[in-house]
Amino acid sequence: MKKFTLILAAALILSGFTPLHGNNTLSPATPSPVPTSSAPPSGKAPAWLRGQTATASLAPTETPSPAAASAAPDGSEPTQSADPNQSPAPATASPVPSPTTKPGYVKAGTPEAETVKVPILLYHHISEEFDLTNAISIISPRDFNLHMTAIKTQYTPISLKEYVDFVNCKDGSKTLPTNPIIVTFDDGYLSNYEVAYPILKKLEIPATIFIVTDTVGEIGGKGKVNYSHFTWEQAKEMQDSGLIDIESHTNDHIKLGETDIDTVNYELRKSKYLIEKKLGKTCDMIAYPYGSYTDEAIQASKKAGYNVQCLVGDDATNIDYEVNIPRDGVMNLTRITVSGTMGNVNVIELVRKAIANKNID
Ligand SMILES: [Zn+2]
Repeated sequence: MKKFTLILAAALILSGFTPLHGNNTLSPATPSPVPTSSAPPSGKAPAWLRGQTATASLAPTETPSPAAASAAPDGSEPTQSADPNQSPAPATASPVPSPTTKPGYVKAGTPEAETVKVPILLYHHISEEFDLTNAISIISPRDFNLHMTAIKTQYTPISLKEYVDFVNCKDGSKTLPTNPIIVTFDDGYLSNYEVAYPILKKLEIPATIFIVTDTVGEIGGKGKVNYSHFTWEQAKEMQDSGLIDIESHTNDHIKLGETDIDTVNYELRKSKYLIEKKLGKTCDMIAYPYGSYTDEAIQASKKAGYNVQCLVGDDATNIDYEVNIPRDGVMNLTRITVSGTMGNVNVIELVRKAIANKNID
């Protein structure tokens, strides 16, 4: 974790972590090598589809061992985070570790259910156009595909709503896998629809996308956003699939912790209203832009009808990643921002370490 943290910190220092919204301009690009695992491979298929042959063969093996999780195929040193000075091994060459145990299930309301560790991953934009100045928020399509394949192999993906229903279950009727994982996205990029959605469908991985309602359908570079966002029609298609849930990331992507209460209320209520009207569903989850909030904003969110709140995440300066446990409820969820500099093994290592770091008294 330490090494990874340092690398993340270095990447952040390089970038000043510029969020992808608004009229922000990314920091001048520092010449940096782009990890080779993300370089567009040759061939006719779309880049994000290439490599699937390799990933499809990453089936569980008979005799998994914890050490195998991070070992390179040749038995050399475990791969950690991408090093700016080194080209990471080609992603297709990285082994996906096998599950150490078959997933079991726990029943809501039982003592063992209260402390199941639940990692929530956070992605943003998916594009080939990334380097170390923005990799904290952008991941290549190929690596995203590898990440999803890896987590599908190692964990049991569930939707955020399933988790919320489990935490709120009073009659023991809900169950939770003992190795759950949850995938989320922030902002609402077109790449979520064009790239992530087909991959998630193929792998049957549910996801929640927290959208900025004022920039739905905006074209990158022409309005407020640097990268295009999906339209309401595309949002509806994803929502109606049952695999994707669209929730609120405010209306204008502002720091709720640094604005007056009237604006906070407007941001909370406008985005909820638009999502419910356009998509015909209840919107009761919010992810705070930049992880910025106050107690007053939290109270305002509750009053506005948000029963689920992601406080941490979308703020890459918070690199002490944590996982959630059911007994902590769903009003202070924490997420793990996934960096574009990771290969498929590294996302598993990241989650594994976050789980290991979670102390349960
Ligand atoms: Zn955001």
